[in-house]
Amino acid sequence: MDKKDAPADPGVRTRLAHGGHDPRSFHGFVNPPVVHASTVLFPDYATMKSRDQQYVYGTRGTPTTDALAHMIDEMEGSAGTILVPSGLAAISVPLLGFLSAGDHCLVVDALYNPTRRFCDNVLARMGIEIEYFDPAVGDGFANLLRENTKVVFLEAPGSNTFEMIDIPAIAAASHQTGAVVMIDNTWATPLFFRPLDHGVDISIHALTKYPSGHSDLVMGSASANEACWERLEDAHFTIGTCAQGDDCYAVLRGMRTLALRLAEHERNALKIAAWLKVQKQVAQVLHPALPDDPGYALWKRDFSGSSGLFSFVLKDAGEAQAAAFLDALQVFGLGYSWGGYESLAVLVNLEDRVVAKGPAGGALIRLQIGLEDTTDLIIDLERALKASGAG
Ligand SMILES: *Cc1c(COP(=O)(O)O)cnc(C)c1O
Repeated sequence: MDKKDAPADPGVRTRLAHGGHDPRSFHGFVNPPVVHASTVLFPDYATMKSRDQQYVYGTRGTPTTDALAHMIDEMEGSAGTILVPSGLAAISVPLLGFLSAGDHCLVVDALYNPTRRFCDNVLARMGIEIEYFDPAVGDGFANLLRENTKVVFLEAPGSNTFEMIDIPAIAAASHQTGAVVMIDNTWATPLFFRPLDHGVDISIHALTKYPSGHSDLVMGSASANEACWERLEDAHFTIGTCAQGDDCYAVLRGMRTLALRLAEHERNALKIAAWLKVQKQVAQVLHPALPDDPGYALWKRDFSGSSGLFSFVLKDAGEAQAAAFLDALQVFGLGYSWGGYESLAVLVNLEDRVVAKGPAGGALIRLQIGLEDTTDLIIDLERALKASGAG
């Protein structure tokens, strides 16, 4: 887009189509170059000493990593974005950057399990006190904050169980005592929720999921507001977790079609969730965009859409019935991760939960609804529900 004709406040789809890279900065090519780099040359000793040029070394960013980081900044409304080699590194690097021995860290209990492992193993060993809180804490949250609470870590909706939390209220309370608020925003993507607009300081993504969209790479990002950017960037450079150009290029390419793919994931998932709700083998569907879900009011207030990941309870089922369900699926694959074009199913294990124990009444199955025909997905689920012997 020629800058002189650019709209002042472009819509989301326009940003996704034109964000990140200015074609005129590289001979007019619509896409950015993929730079493979360690060494960057300086013209003379004085420049080398002052480091007064845009790029200085491969770990410190290239035109390719910048293109993706700028795109994510535009989507998140952030001051800066770090790009790291996995979604998990996008969680561990900010936590390491903002916590020290003797600090207290509040973490929502409905949490991506590897985040919990990092907190319980690495952070606890460093002398940081981790406290998990119930996503249903409500106004009680303010009472959990201490003088040494330095970070509040959120994930919404909750991992696998999809509880909503009052993010602006938690952010406001946390700022009263000076804590930095981070959120794993992978489920919503910046299209359906912009955390920084709701008081969050750092928004985290597994770019592995919808932004890449094709189940062929792992990458992560963390985007900070003005107040937290310098410290986040410093932690990133100091720890050395830089992302590679080929992966950044692939994620940027994925993001060009993110709005179109997400609209389909959303539509297909809502259709299948509604169908599952009325099946006799299904005790409960956990999806915050269903009007009778306990999280619906908060989701409706703060989010502008829902993605393709939700869970349901296979009625009265134990592991054997859940296994029969999973093994009967032919279109859905059995596999970890999500956000790609293909549908997936997993049996959820909630044994790691401390306070938010999740639903009772059967086995919890998580579905990622892909871009297939919903008719085929429903036939597949119908066969598997029958084969499970549940209900
Ligand atoms: C997948 C995932 C991650 C981690 O991403 P990886 O790239 O697999 O390390 C983090 N948070 C959530 C919510 C995820 O689903």
